[in-house]
Amino acid sequence: KANRKFHPDDSIINVGGALIGGGHFAVMAGPCSVETPEQVLETAKACKEAGATILRGGAFKPRTSPYSFQGMGPEGLELLELAKKETGLPIVSEVMDISQLQYFDNVDMLQIGARNMQNFTLLKEVGKLNKPVLLKRGLSATYEEWLMAAEYIMSEGNEQVVLCERGIRTFETKTRNTLDVTAIPMMHELSHLPIIMDPSHAAGMSRMVRPLSLASVGGGADGLMIEVHNDPSKALCDGPQALRPDQFTSLMKEVIALRQAL
Ligand code: PEP
Ligand code: MN
Repeated sequence: KANRKFHPDDSIINVGGALIGGGHFAVMAGPCSVETPEQVLETAKACKEAGATILRGGAFKPRTSPYSFQGMGPEGLELLELAKKETGLPIVSEVMDISQLQYFDNVDMLQIGARNMQNFTLLKEVGKLNKPVLLKRGLSATYEEWLMAAEYIMSEGNEQVVLCERGIRTFETKTRNTLDVTAIPMMHELSHLPIIMDPSHAAGMSRMVRPLSLASVGGGADGLMIEVHNDPSKALCDGPQALRPDQFTSLMKEVIALRQAL
């Protein structure tokens, strides 16, 4: 179902009014994790003003260490919904487990994280819903494995899938991951599904987000996912890779200009 062969036209996915694919470009921006009402509201307003089309924020966080901040849980989703009311931005948030799905009724798009890309029970379950799914590429997943994960969702009936390249594991240790820009033309060739790029988790450092974003836009991506925090130094998760609102605002100007030049 994800294969381009049987579906020559680009799929266009509608996330609460924000379109992705087939020439429609989406920018998902917001904090790694929802932390406080002030943090999420301030950040959301800045993202909206800069031109983001979807607000991101994690309430359930898949942290490497069990002793790190695990997210606010259902309360975090409530704060995200509040930010949606304030800004009008649709929201995307990660669901880690089937048991959490009950809290996601008002969330516009479900994010499947890199660590869950092959959680087939979860994939089948979100495949039964009528809601867009953002499927992040696994840390070491091949294109074929990634597309098969999309197939798990689509085979259950839900064909509203957007792929997200977020950097893969390579021999390089200077960066958190290596952004695979080849994934853009390759996925466009193999599949009709839109693909967006997440330079924040790929690089792991805020100063690399601008060049990687521009490379992604130049490479034909259908959108970007960018972590933005009103005060990155105080972030409970992924602070070093978060952009300040002013940095995000100037990046958005460049992204828009570059898209117009293409
Ligand atoms: C995230 O988007 O905050 C996240 C945890 O991403 P990934 O699953 O790509 O690591
Ligand atoms: Mn993060």
